[in-house]
Amino acid sequence: MIMPKKILVVLGPAGSGKSTQIEFIKRDFGYKPLSMGDALREETKKKTRLSKEIQNYIVQGKLVPLELASDLMLGKIKKEMSSKLLLDGFPRELEQAVVFDYFLYSNDYQLVGVININVHKKECIKRLMLRKRKDDTETAITKRLEDYYTITKKVIERYKEKGKLMDINGNKPIEDVYKEIKRKLKKWKI
Ligand code: AMP
Repeated sequence: MIMPKKILVVLGPAGSGKSTQIEFIKRDFGYKPLSMGDALREETKKKTRLSKEIQNYIVQGKLVPLELASDLMLGKIKKEMSSKLLLDGFPRELEQAVVFDYFLYSNDYQLVGVININVHKKECIKRLMLRKRKDDTETAITKRLEDYYTITKKVIERYKEKGKLMDINGNKPIEDVYKEIKRKLKKWKI
């Protein structure tokens, strides 16, 4: 019997420590990370009209348009040979989640679950100020956090209703956050 490919999603506000936790999950559970932000940053290096457009969204901390984000991420998933994928930062708005769910259903992927790392807004801002990424300006940070608490919130609610959500308390030291994730992932038998 052919087993469906498994997909895990990791969400959390900017500065929630997603990337660090994703590295731990990769190490222990063999899931291959695919980051939406990295994929978009990669696109901006191409020096095309589209890359300039993407760059504009990124510097403002705005979500890129639905079709662009979905085409890019779903295209990447399709090309992946790995049978276990870990999506970082996608889907981030309800419309993306609808497109994503349909894609999973029609391509026979199994959504194992959605991990949401909760961190207080103040703590996120503090951490982002220490990081030195180009789009970590005050305006972009404010916009990204605002979108997370309004737009991405709906994605989180959607997967909660489907019984697919794993809420994590990210207001703890990195190792403790991971302990909680690992314990819960083991229960999910991923
Ligand atoms: P990140 O690396 O996750 O902080 O994302 C950096 C930037 O990429 C965001 O501020 C958005 O401009 C864009 N981005 C990341 N994920 C998405 C997504 N799922 N949909 C639309 N835009 C995104």
